[in-house]
Amino acid sequence: MSQLPAPPATRTMGASGIQVSPIAWGMWRLAEDGRSTAEAAALVHAALDAGITLLDTADIYGFDGTSGFGDAEALLGEVLAAEPALRGRMVLASKGGIMPPLPYDQSTAYLTAALDASLRRLQTDMIDLYQIHRPDILAHPQEVARVLDDALSAGKIRAIGVSNFTQAQTAALNHFLDHKLVTTQPEISPLRIDCFENGELDQAMMLGLTPLAWSPLGGGRLVKPDSVRETAVAAELDRIAAEQGVCRSVAAYGWLMAHPAGIVPIIGSQQAARIAEGASALGMRWTRQDWYAVLVAARGVNLP
Ligand code: NAP
Repeated sequence: MSQLPAPPATRTMGASGIQVSPIAWGMWRLAEDGRSTAEAAALVHAALDAGITLLDTADIYGFDGTSGFGDAEALLGEVLAAEPALRGRMVLASKGGIMPPLPYDQSTAYLTAALDASLRRLQTDMIDLYQIHRPDILAHPQEVARVLDDALSAGKIRAIGVSNFTQAQTAALNHFLDHKLVTTQPEISPLRIDCFENGELDQAMMLGLTPLAWSPLGGGRLVKPDSVRETAVAAELDRIAAEQGVCRSVAAYGWLMAHPAGIVPIIGSQQAARIAEGASALGMRWTRQDWYAVLVAARGVNLP
């Protein structure tokens, strides 16, 4: 049976020229559990030592509904301040545009201040990839584009991305940007397959956006399936994982990476061994039959 192409050793984020590993590590949960700077540093080292160079955070990571806004960025900033050489080993991605308790704010004043605050917390003078976290329906995309273009021209950011945008919102922002979008970050996993058929990934390929997949294990549900559908998806992944000597979570990352859009799964684990294990997804190979078998299990109905 013929195999789908193996993922490349590195991917380039859109037209930015910025090279990243084909799998990323996310820090949504970094500031949980009272993690110390040294413990956070150990996780950063685990990712970098495993060859993972794209590290994803956001200003809102750490927010628990009442406090903690900025805590994940601040913790990473402490890691970078203690060990400045780490900064050059990573492509640093962050996000802004959600202002609790108000849901979203991408007005010029808010977004400009949010980016400056992220830079301060991260203790760096430049964020490699700055993403709008969720669309602000009340912000004109031309206004958002101006802020982002100005930030790029000022050297505060190197590239621009979006997350959780509809296709029309992505196209509208991209239309107004001088420095075009290079990434989009939707939720994609074997349990969240909408974007394979709703046009999101087709748009990413058309615009040359690198898709970064958030919650590639469904936020952990894939590891503990508790519905008929989730159990069926897990069983298909387990079958293929056993054949290739990997575990289910690695098979899930590998499944995403086999898609022609060049999906970069963002590992969510905050355990060093699991982060390192995730990088082994690069060694997986997929046949069309196996890839579609997982898709069919996730759909719950056969393809037409
Ligand atoms: P995930 O990989 O779907 O879930 C990770 C969770 O699964 C962790 O709690 C992890 O716990 C658990 N887990 C259990 N067994 C595991 C195993 N064998 N391997 C790996 N994890 C296992 O990802 P996520 O944390 O929901 O999201 C990943 C990243 O996506 C975030 O860090 C963030 O960067 C990004 N994200 C973005 C958005 C957005 O709106 N743009 C939203 C959500 C997330 P342990 O830590 O104990 O391993």
